[in-house]
Amino acid sequence: MSVGIVRDVRALRAAVDGWHREAQVVALVPTMGALHAGHVSLVQAARASADRVVATVFVNPKQFAPGEDFAAYPRDLAADHARVAAAGADLVYAPDLPAMYPAGFSTAVTVGGPASAGLEDAVRPHHFAGVATVVTKLLLQARPDLALFGEKDWQQLKVIERLVRDLDVDVAVEGRPTVRAPDGLALSSRNAYLEAGQRERAPALYRALTACAADLARGAATGDALASARRAVAAAGFVVDYLELREAATLAPSAESWDTPARLLAAARLGTTRLIDNVPVAERAACPRAENLRGSVRT
Ligand code: AMP
Repeated sequence: MSVGIVRDVRALRAAVDGWHREAQVVALVPTMGALHAGHVSLVQAARASADRVVATVFVNPKQFAPGEDFAAYPRDLAADHARVAAAGADLVYAPDLPAMYPAGFSTAVTVGGPASAGLEDAVRPHHFAGVATVVTKLLLQARPDLALFGEKDWQQLKVIERLVRDLDVDVAVEGRPTVRAPDGLALSSRNAYLEAGQRERAPALYRALTACAADLARGAATGDALASARRAVAAAGFVVDYLELREAATLAPSAESWDTPARLLAAARLGTTRLIDNVPVAERAACPRAENLRGSVRT
């Protein structure tokens, strides 16, 4: 069956409404195109959970600041179409700019709280308002039952979970694991910007994060473990924007010991290419928790 491309909301809704009338479950996979195996994994996961899959391809100008790579961002709709069709999508929604932001468009969705505080927001202060606005709009346009996002953009995933809960958007949000190159580098459309020498050094970011997560799980002091990871990333030639430990679910700052999962998140630049990554950190189950320590003082 050939997979269609629709470019406006009326055509999108005609397809989705038709599927819903037949009681089919519809999943949405938002992307900015330049698709790789990470995006394909989202489409495949959507295929496994839903009857119909809509992949969106839209390079969203609102999530780029002036001077960022909006103009240079790789675009190849024909290749993207072929890739998601092969992965099992039923429809590609590739709106043009006026379909998303018609003349006079004046609305923004901003998400507050710990999910959007610091990390990416400290370096790219407009970014999450742009993401939240476009994702809200895509969810309202497509009205899917399920929407899938990559854990590679962990903070983005938490911002989207927050906005869906806060606005009672009737959709299930599902995060999917990061797909990596064999050397550990998280797949990203921006990896195409890396020169050969930079590409060789790029996996150092993931290596430093996994080593730091292991140190933390073994009980290393948080400050020391983070400082040593930042040094390792810098030694590979990166300029580190941030490398921090947060509570995984809320992104609230992590305490010295924790009994819920934590997450190490980092962004760093190799030349002009900015890479982000994150890894889980196991609970410090072996560490004495604060109340146990208090108990041991009493006895
Ligand atoms: P983007 O096109 O970069 O905006 O990404 C579209 C979706 O694909 C987002 O939900 C990303 O988190 C997800 N994604 C990007 N890279 C990966 C990856 N390496 N593994 C899994 N998901 C990814």
